[in-house]
Amino acid sequence: MSYSQADDWIRAFAATAAANKVYLTELDSAIGDADHGINMNRGMQAVLGKIDGIGETDDIGALLKTVGMTLVSTVGGASGPLYGTLFLRMGTAAAGKSELSADDWAAALAAGLAGVQTRGKAELGDKTMVDALTPAVDALQAALADGAAFDDALRRSAEAAEGGMKATIPLVARKGRASYLGERSAGHQDPGATSSWLLVLAAADTFAGQAGQ
Ligand code: ADP
Ligand code: MG
Repeated sequence: MSYSQADDWIRAFAATAAANKVYLTELDSAIGDADHGINMNRGMQAVLGKIDGIGETDDIGALLKTVGMTLVSTVGGASGPLYGTLFLRMGTAAAGKSELSADDWAAALAAGLAGVQTRGKAELGDKTMVDALTPAVDALQAALADGAAFDDALRRSAEAAEGGMKATIPLVARKGRASYLGERSAGHQDPGATSSWLLVLAAADTFAGQAGQ
């Protein structure tokens, strides 16, 4: 993954956050406060403004840290610090790199997930974004262990994230605002797991057909 492909991924995530703003907000209206799509879109629009002015660089780590800092400073609520941490940790893992191998990408996403869990204390099954990101990381690592090409590994990662997202539907939330609803949170798909699936899907779509790059 080159710098320009990483940049394309961020732009693709911003585009999908905008396109899914109403959908994510509807999901959050069922078990939260109806702002997740608004939050993610606001944050990613601010990110676009920042990365347009980033100047000459080929440091993917610096790009991802800029994304993370922008999300922390522009998005309120739970998701700003959590997505901010995800990108900041990915940026640290990718520091100084102008090219990420598939293994680098897997290590960066795993570091991002670890950061989300350190910050938010959510475990798998708590009905949060962790429920989409964990299978995404696991599937990526399994695909790479099988010798899959980068684009195929990303596709399998996105499919696993989608499965994790759908698996949040019957769960009772144990973290975040949705946990205030107790048993009434069951029967609804978690908004943050949904935006995390979109994040991984944006990576898979960006690299579709670009095996080995
Ligand atoms: P808020 O809940 O503050 O309104 P958002 O609506 O933007 O923030 O984001 C809600 C999403 O944040 C949830 O759907 C869930 O996936 C995620 N979330 C909330 N708390 C946590 C946590 N402690 N760890 C991981 N993810 C969390
Ligand atoms: Mg909310």
